[in-house]
Amino acid sequence: MDNDRFCSLWRVFGGAVEEELDYLNDLDAAIGDADHGTNMSRGLRKVAVALDGSVDGSLRDTCKTVAMTLLSTVGGASGALWGSGLLKTSAALPEDFSCEDRFFVQAIRVFVDSIQSRGKAVMGDKTMLDVFIPAIELLEEGLDRSDDMDRLVPQVALSAQGWALGTSELLAKRGRASYLGERSIGHIDPGAYSSALWWQSLAKVVVG
Ligand code: ADP
Ligand code: MG
Repeated sequence: MDNDRFCSLWRVFGGAVEEELDYLNDLDAAIGDADHGTNMSRGLRKVAVALDGSVDGSLRDTCKTVAMTLLSTVGGASGALWGSGLLKTSAALPEDFSCEDRFFVQAIRVFVDSIQSRGKAVMGDKTMLDVFIPAIELLEEGLDRSDDMDRLVPQVALSAQGWALGTSELLAKRGRASYLGERSIGHIDPGAYSSALWWQSLAKVVVG
């Protein structure tokens, strides 16, 4: 991974969220407060501005800029989770323009673990982690078998869409959706859906 691509990742993700803004709000309307698309898009628009001119910088600085921008603009559960998770991730990235794929994957692992320790959700709780946990596991297993990122990430992105849709069957145990209990079943989790968009965005920039 290099910083040029890493900056692109956030722009592509921002574009994907923009395209699905209404759909993400609709998903959140069913089991939350209808703002997930608005929250994420507000933050990612600011990220695009904040990253202007950062392409030559370091992975660590870029990730820190994204984290601080999301923390100060997104609000809600997703702002705190994405922002604090990415702040931890930035410390795991080098102060260099690029890093080996296995270090980038380790940094994504730091992101997932930090979301888990901050939000206390586990697999099956109907959150963004129902996409991020299986995704990072698939990526790590693939790298262990010595597959490369360019081949693996598109496969993970494809599965991510399925994992996001699969949250529909789950009962929410964390976040606002958990207040609905049984009535949360039958609706896709908005944070899981936007997380799948992140993996699809990563696939786009990795394949180039
Ligand atoms: P809010 O719920 O504060 O309105 P958003 O609507 O922006 O924030 O984000 C909701 C999403 O945040 C949920 O769909 C879920 O994926 C994610 N989320 C909420 N609580 C947690 C948690 N404890 N751990 C992981 N993800 C969570
Ligand atoms: Mg919401």
